[in-house]
Amino acid sequence: MRPLAFSYEQLPARVVFGPGTRARVPALVDELEDRGVFLVVDRAARETGDELAAALGARLAARWNEAVQHVPVELADRARTAFDASGAGMVVCVGGGSSTGLAKAIALSHHVPVLAVPTTYAGSEQTTIYGLTGGRHKQTGKHHDVLPKVVVYDPELTLGLPPAVTGPSAFNALAHSVEALYAPGHNPVTSALALEGVRAIHHALPIVMAAPGDLPARSELLFGAYLSGGALGATAAAMHHKICHVLGGMFDLVHADTHSVILPHAVAFLGPALPEEMARLADALGVPGGDPAAALWDLAVASRVPTTLAALAHQGAGLGRDDLPEAAARCAAEITTAPRRVSEADILALLERAYDGERPTIDRG
Ligand code: NAD
Repeated sequence: MRPLAFSYEQLPARVVFGPGTRARVPALVDELEDRGVFLVVDRAARETGDELAAALGARLAARWNEAVQHVPVELADRARTAFDASGAGMVVCVGGGSSTGLAKAIALSHHVPVLAVPTTYAGSEQTTIYGLTGGRHKQTGKHHDVLPKVVVYDPELTLGLPPAVTGPSAFNALAHSVEALYAPGHNPVTSALALEGVRAIHHALPIVMAAPGDLPARSELLFGAYLSGGALGATAAAMHHKICHVLGGMFDLVHADTHSVILPHAVAFLGPALPEEMARLADALGVPGGDPAAALWDLAVASRVPTTLAALAHQGAGLGRDDLPEAAARCAAEITTAPRRVSEADILALLERAYDGERPTIDRG
């Protein structure tokens, strides 16, 4: 065994976690800013938005009710103009990664603090990563200004999240943890976060899918998503994420759905290069000595989340099997680091398996 040696930059964010914590938002706002709040609310979280707007009272400068995944540039520009007109000094966002993403876009241009109240498991609230989409291309970058200063995790706000969103969103979080095991910047602290994130999600997700109103299980799932977002925030998006971003940007697919489809295949492809990481991942997925790619696939099937790209063909611009070569070429151009050599042909084979829906396993040669 080697002695530990690493460098780790912990991101500076305050986390308030627990049922009912949304009641603390006004007091937390007062600690951050006194020029008023620009409240970004996902349409599906309207009731929570109403509750927060009432609680914010005179602190509320303006409310914005439109959030779209991958943050179209045109939407960001309109929201920034409305932010200017409001005279607000900070953003509070309520909803999934789309509303967090819009809040981040405003923070990027206006250098104002964000307080995030996430209601999905996307984890964006724990990262300095922002994304903006124009045409069929998603541009991502990193900036410390976009990291929310405060995150309020109230699992009561996730009780109404439909299973069709819950399952794929939990796989988005799982993907953050899995990739944090080998992404650039990984270290023993981020691996500890990631493995605990996987354990929590693996334990809680089947309970939540069977009983969406189970508060302790919802709480554990949100905790797992928080740890996973933190693991991503301290490392980087790696091969699996690049594939999801390319597919999402090209075909306007539902972001979380791409994760549940691609993750088992990405793990199967990378597995041979990562024997230690795969052994620890298998432990966290409850199959010690087993195959984590197959375990992720089995969890996806049991959670009734999309497991084939063909199942996403009806979304957005319509992804057909004929589109896979162009998608593979774009992915290959975007993947700059991976734990093993990855060619365009490798990606195409991975996408074809994901399209057809084969249960992936790691080739242990
Ligand atoms: P999302 O925010 O679009 O939410 C998914 C769906 O859930 C939407 O239909 C939304 O209306 C609904 N929803 C949200 N809260 C709800 C609630 N309380 N009850 C019922 N329905 C609710 O999507 P997402 O999967 O949360 O996030 C995806 C976006 O986040 C993508 O754009 C992705 O690129 C980005 N993302 C960014 C990072 C990062 O670090 N920057 C990390 C992860 C994801």
